[in-house]
Amino acid sequence: MLKELGVMSDFSIGDFGPLLDSIPSYVFVTKPDSFDIIYSNSIFKEHFSDNLKGSCYGRIKSFLANQSQQSGSSDGTFSGADFYCGVCDKWFQIYGKTISLPDYGEVRLYTMEDITDKIEYEKEMERHTLFDSVTGLPNRKQLDIDFQDVVRYAENDNQDGMMLFLDIDNFKIVNDRFGYQYGDILLKQIGSFLSTLNKFGAQSYAFGGDEFLILIPHLSVNNSGKIIETIISRFDDSWKLDDVMYTTSASIGSAMFPRDGSSLGSLLQKVDMSVYKAKSEGKSRLIEYRDTFGSKISRHMDVVKAMRESVLNDLEGFYVAYQPIVSAKTKQVESVEALMRWKHPELGNIGPNEFIPIAEDTGLILALGEFVLREGMTKCKQWVDKGYIRHLNINLSVNQMVCDNFIDTVKRIIDETGVDPNSIVFEITESIAIKDINAMNEKIAQLCDIGIRIALDDFGTGYSSLNCIKDLPLGIVKLDKKFIDNVSNNNLDKTVVMSVVDLSHKFDLSVCAEGVEYNEQYGVLKDMGVDLIQGYLFSKPQDTETLENEFFAITN
Ligand code: C2E
Ligand code: CA
Ligand code: CA
Repeated sequence: MLKELGVMSDFSIGDFGPLLDSIPSYVFVTKPDSFDIIYSNSIFKEHFSDNLKGSCYGRIKSFLANQSQQSGSSDGTFSGADFYCGVCDKWFQIYGKTISLPDYGEVRLYTMEDITDKIEYEKEMERHTLFDSVTGLPNRKQLDIDFQDVVRYAENDNQDGMMLFLDIDNFKIVNDRFGYQYGDILLKQIGSFLSTLNKFGAQSYAFGGDEFLILIPHLSVNNSGKIIETIISRFDDSWKLDDVMYTTSASIGSAMFPRDGSSLGSLLQKVDMSVYKAKSEGKSRLIEYRDTFGSKISRHMDVVKAMRESVLNDLEGFYVAYQPIVSAKTKQVESVEALMRWKHPELGNIGPNEFIPIAEDTGLILALGEFVLREGMTKCKQWVDKGYIRHLNINLSVNQMVCDNFIDTVKRIIDETGVDPNSIVFEITESIAIKDINAMNEKIAQLCDIGIRIALDDFGTGYSSLNCIKDLPLGIVKLDKKFIDNVSNNNLDKTVVMSVVDLSHKFDLSVCAEGVEYNEQYGVLKDMGVDLIQGYLFSKPQDTETLENEFFAITN
């Protein structure tokens, strides 16, 4: 057996034998030119002496010959060369040196370590640094590596490739409502779906959080239309998160390379702008990059930054304006609606239609929402006590309501301000109501138990308004301004308003018309039985001083 390994018997290691047998490394000595073994220690013999493993030595031998040629050093010294043996599927690190023995002449002494575990560990670590731990998709680092090749490929062939940036809409809601485990399950599922796009030639990457990137290398080879269609139709379906079925939309931005840029940085900036545009146009859509996006985006960044700063500074610059809502019959002030305002020292007045969606996206709506609750309830207490109003309306946003501690926050502020909950109306939109009708129904029922009334805001702008009237414990329906604008001269709008009034009254709900600007509108609405009127005809939203000194003082 030892012969097969080329071990010669006329060489003796002398007194060193027992010492070398006791160390945990493979030690062997070879002839200087042929690399035939003339000595090996016992662990070497153990490992390499069976037939199969014996053939390993053939490989080691040619590796050693190669190394001593490459090492360039005349004595054939080399240290720490890594060698993989395919026969035993192991990695070794070999150190070699030529030495001269007094009784024998020149020999080569080698020591060899089994570093298989270490190499595997390194590979595992590398996998960790290049792959996203939640989804298992390649990560941003891997994209850095791949992108060079992909863009070169496109440039060489004079072809465009496409980059898609996908951001899950309202992802925070999953975490807030069901907990982080469910958020992770959703990300995993989306990740594994995106990895199936490989079959169309697209490579997907996870960017951490709820962001994904998809590279389509070559538009003439890979069918981008098919890929996009596959993504969009998958998001029409729901995802199974353990015991819950969850539907979510995604906003997607796209850019072409090299058309829109050939560096990764500039392309990422462009897909980011496109996603932002998709979000600001109502989410759940794909927007392709255009050169004209720039200025709007930097405004968005400025507003986000300013809002974060203000939230850290007790919401400096934010205040609440109140718009009176009057009884259609008596024109007496029935209620006021709290509407948030923001005056920034550099950016000027920023309207709620601009800052509310940004606050929703960044999660800052929770701070803003709590601010309006506190301000509104404080004023409500004062004005009800003085007999100025009977109710005060506060708008709620979906992200506020889905928070686990929402009801507790409401109760706490009621206690702090001493307001009578029966004088509070919360305005919710249909999008809140249909989000998860059962969960919302329960929260709304809890609010009703406290004594708070619910108004359905912007009625008629969505698709399931009628279902909401039927299914939710509402008190008031607020007809959107778009039905009111032409109510005095358009028969269709008149019919719609009339039907809503009839239906609402059948369900014992009051109807409020929003955006009433002209006397003719008021007349028609009053005749149709609308209960409450809100609009510039009676008053624009006012700050508290103006309202107290000019409006309440006159009307009461
Ligand atoms: P909304 O809840 O439908 O509020 C009514 C909007 O119509 C207000 O716009 C009000 O100023 C405007 N309006 C009232 N009467 C008339 C009229 O006769 N003519 C015209 N042209 N407009 C009229 P505003 O204050 O700009 O608020 C816009 C939206 O921002 C609100 O729509 C609401 O969705 C949101 N918002 C405002 N404050 C808050 C808040 O504190 N929390 C939340 N979640 N949303 C808020
Ligand atoms: Ca409202
Ligand atoms: Ca409204």
